[in-house]
Amino acid sequence: MTFTSALSGASPDTAKHILDSIEAQFQLSQDDLITITKQFLDDFRLGLSEYNHPMAMIPTFVTGVPDGSETGTFLALDLGGTNLRVCEVHLLGDGEFTLKQQKYRVSEALKTGEASALFADSVDAFLTEHASSPTTAPPDPFAVSSRSIDLLDPHAGSALPLGLTFSFPVEQTALDKGTILTWTKGFAAKNAVGHDVVQLLQDAFDRKHLHVRCVALVNDTVGTLLTRAYTAGGCVLGSIFGTGTNGAYVEKVENLTKLGDSAVRQEGGVMVVNCEWGAFNNTRTVLPTTPFDNKVDRESINPRLQAFEKFISGMYLGEITRNILLSLLDAAPTPLLLNGRASDVLNRHYGLDTAVLSEIEEVWESGRTHFTEVEKLSAEDRSRLERIRSIIIQRLSVDAEFVTLRDAAIFRWAASLVASRAAKLSACAVATVLVQTEHAKLGGGHVPEQEKLTVGVDGSLIEHYPNFNARLRESLRALVGEEVEKRVDIGMAKDGSGVGAALCALMATK
Ligand code: ADP
Ligand code: MG
Repeated sequence: MTFTSALSGASPDTAKHILDSIEAQFQLSQDDLITITKQFLDDFRLGLSEYNHPMAMIPTFVTGVPDGSETGTFLALDLGGTNLRVCEVHLLGDGEFTLKQQKYRVSEALKTGEASALFADSVDAFLTEHASSPTTAPPDPFAVSSRSIDLLDPHAGSALPLGLTFSFPVEQTALDKGTILTWTKGFAAKNAVGHDVVQLLQDAFDRKHLHVRCVALVNDTVGTLLTRAYTAGGCVLGSIFGTGTNGAYVEKVENLTKLGDSAVRQEGGVMVVNCEWGAFNNTRTVLPTTPFDNKVDRESINPRLQAFEKFISGMYLGEITRNILLSLLDAAPTPLLLNGRASDVLNRHYGLDTAVLSEIEEVWESGRTHFTEVEKLSAEDRSRLERIRSIIIQRLSVDAEFVTLRDAAIFRWAASLVASRAAKLSACAVATVLVQTEHAKLGGGHVPEQEKLTVGVDGSLIEHYPNFNARLRESLRALVGEEVEKRVDIGMAKDGSGVGAALCALMATK
């Protein structure tokens, strides 16, 4: 543990020493990244060959990716970590789509209550959105449902197909069947684990007599992959950097040895695999764990699980940073932050939202010094720190009297340490997929000439966090070489969960 108590008193030198030693714990060398990626590859192969490993490498029964020519109208429901989205998607062909969606926040009570209540509420949200205004699809000869839809009329023809995006680990056995393995991201709804998630949702629809049939179950990563393939004409990897983190990629069925001699394996070809990489290295043998991370894990609702996710994703980056800041604030005998004064927000578990780190880094994106001597900064830099100071006062309700420019510099430094490490570790996951699919070699080196390597991403963290993508790319370059990195086209799969579910529903109804 870093010494945050100094018997000799907190001289500027002691302070600098403490900050430096925290900073050192968050560094990752190229060798570290390579070691982590090697372990990642081993765990990939283990998960592909056997069931019941934390990195589950789940076969999704999606045996191809779209090319953009697909058309049709579908409903989609997306249960993510933070929000529930209800969507209506029109696939127009030519990689184009239109989408209407409504977002609802999932309450803490629903996250941890009865699963039936969670799904009933999802259906209620759905009803609010759709039953009041019957859906009208544009004329489209290929559409499954190119007609006015009355969800409440059982005689209105075949039930409307719906794709469910469900962003939690599920062991899928068919496109429309899957058992919930475990909750992640702060969910703990009862009577869900071990149950078929499609059935849970369908029961909720049926109880309300809604004329909707859930035909496809898709993980948000798979949705992201399919959506980017639809809009870009192909895609290697879909990945999420939001509340949690995960990825799905296109694997050769022959490598999915845990499918044994099953019919689907004998058919050969490719299948999308949902990695569940949030659970990488739960034993933490290679992850660069600090005491600040251990505290996050210990106080989480799933200690010792989802280790990788706890280094990477939106749910946790604010909390790791909060732990660093509190250790400085509590330093004795002389506090090293905010003169030892916290606020209710700073004191609260998960009180520091990753979005606030994002705001802070937005003000000042490059560099990472902790500036023990703020006085020596230029006027321009000091005005940036003034802006960060206002963010701290406003967003964390800290008493203005106790926030100095030096405190602002430390907040920025801590945010940048935690977010940079997250971006670097994210690069390991991306590199693993590129190496596993033979698009790259670990450490660089020659790979067959290829065009673009399309990667679809989704999640507020990668969408909004300043430089997350640039920092990720920098480490990716270190891992697979510049030649390959240059070809990697990382792009947002906008509305991936909704469109992906629609694309999956289309496959199911074909
Ligand atoms: P979900 O994972 O439910 O699909 P999001 O992709 O929107 O939802 O991710 C929500 C997570 O992203 C939260 O943990 C939140 O703290 C974080 N977040 C929200 N806004 C930002 C932002 N501007 N910058 C960085 N992180 C953000
Ligand atoms: Mg999401």
